[in-house]
Amino acid sequence: MTAHILDGNALAQRMRAELAEKAAALAATQGVTPCLAVILVGEDPASQVYVRNKVAACEKAGFASLKFTYAADVEPAVVLAQIAALNADPRVHGILVQLPLPRHFDAEAVLAAISPEKDVDGFHAENVGALVQGQPRFIPCTPFGVMKMLAETGLDLRGAEAVIVGRSNIVGKPMALLLLQQDCTVTVCHSRTRDLAAHTRRADVLVAAVGKPKMITAEMVKPGAIVIDVGINRLADGKLCGDVDFDAVKEVAGWITPVPGGVGPMTITMLLANTLLAAERTLP
Ligand code: NDP
Repeated sequence: MTAHILDGNALAQRMRAELAEKAAALAATQGVTPCLAVILVGEDPASQVYVRNKVAACEKAGFASLKFTYAADVEPAVVLAQIAALNADPRVHGILVQLPLPRHFDAEAVLAAISPEKDVDGFHAENVGALVQGQPRFIPCTPFGVMKMLAETGLDLRGAEAVIVGRSNIVGKPMALLLLQQDCTVTVCHSRTRDLAAHTRRADVLVAAVGKPKMITAEMVKPGAIVIDVGINRLADGKLCGDVDFDAVKEVAGWITPVPGGVGPMTITMLLANTLLAAERTLP
């Protein structure tokens, strides 16, 4: 059996076209152009690429974007002052601070400084709390994108065994909450999990968010499972690969996301969706 491929590029393209139409309508009828402000501190090459892609996606969809870049040794107070100014600017609907921040920053304090109404990444503690309570204001973009891809399968997830490998605040934990909301039975695995394969082999839905190339092998996957690969790893030859051994696992799984071209493009799409939502919420 060869798995159905969940094509993140195709879905992202479709959704971005819809978002562009909605943004154009908002501008035409209300005079409001959704605007995302992105803050980048330091010269991390991966972060620079992510920020460039986010700004380009905004422009392509007809959103406004603002980019603020700072040297790695900037005083945190300078960045906090910029966030305060953006919080107060009614033309700005979404604010995103690209992570990771340099060591001398208190990342939690920076995220806490963003107005929860403009926290389109959904990382502010108030928004995390709302997600836990099942009434999210903004759903974190990567797990939000994964839920959209799962919906593409057309399968009923109620009662399904969902296993997530990885428990980070930005992927694993919110992913668990969203799958729980879909009535899955959720298991979250991490670096201290004993016998990881025993868990993954039970999964109807398996989400890998670890950051270890090809660590999910075919023997760890239940035949017919939906396998979502969040991992992005750069190999020695410069190529990107996920946490899942795609070539082998696609012969066992029922559905699988590729890397690249899977979850990645959906993450930015959901950032646009959240920014549009933030703009719509400012309407009287
Ligand atoms: P983190 O490093 O924050 O978390 C990794 C998680 O994996 C941790 O919970 C860790 O456990 C767990 N882990 C590490 N080793 C093992 C192991 N051997 N067995 C089981 N679990 C293990 O990473 P992120 O969540 O930020 O990102 C995960 C991956 O997803 C990365 O490759 C990242 O690049 C990618 N990513 C992709 C995005 C996209 O848009 N496609 C967006 C965000 C991230 P413990 O908690 O015990 O340390």
